Amino acid sequence: MAQTKMLYMEDNYIKSFEAKVIAVGENYVVLDQTAFYPEGGGQECDIGTLLFDNHTITISMVKRDSGEVRHYLEDFDKLPDKGEIVNCSIDWERRLIHMRYHTAIHVLSTFMKEHYSTECVGNNISTRNGRADFNLIESLTGEDLKKIENGINEIIAKNLPVKITFMPRDEAIKYLEEKGYQTDYIQMVPKSVKTFRVISVDDYDHASCAGTHVKNTSEIGNIKVVKRRSMGKGKERITLSFEEN
Ligand SMILES: [Zn+2]
Repeated sequence: MAQTKMLYMEDNYIKSFEAKVIAVGENYVVLDQTAFYPEGGGQECDIGTLLFDNHTITISMVKRDSGEVRHYLEDFDKLPDKGEIVNCSIDWERRLIHMRYHTAIHVLSTFMKEHYSTECVGNNISTRNGRADFNLIESLTGEDLKKIENGINEIIAKNLPVKITFMPRDEAIKYLEEKGYQTDYIQMVPKSVKTFRVISVDDYDHASCAGTHVKNTSEIGNIKVVKRRSMGKGKERITLSFEEN
């Protein structure tokens, strides 16, 4: 199994990079390092291009398969060989939208914890919108949605810095517990994972997360709470959209 270094874990702003091909499949390559986010954790994957030896190929999907991070390629005459150096570029417009929605959902999660005593139990980030599910006994009203929209926009407008910190497992759990978060979801991560990546939106929101985020909430812009759906008894879905959409 060829292992890939995930560059976005430390730096979410790498738009293009050089990498070595370490495995080649029928329609995919595995690279020694990548800044492409593979589909997972509720977030859509990055797409982009791969350039080698005067060939430009579309990377149409990136996902984990059989323990590898595979970059699936489209419309190619020739694939690079194992050992070859390639240049990859991310579709940045799409990625930045994902980062903005994803960071907004972090803010929303803490807002819901503070005002409705509930934690996020699922989320989905795409280019169209960001969605998050919450356990709530009572249905949210139109008034609640307005309060949530105003509340998260107020926090976003504070231009809060977003920080990435790597912590040993026990330290990360202790840190999140001290900040008042439940840590069941990270306790379930296999013990073989020894380091956790903790995302902090200044001192407002803290979470163990492997997704991609903006470095300051000023990049998110104004958010609209556009739709809420009842997901069955006790569960509500909040959908976020940008003003310009
Ligand atoms: Zn996140």
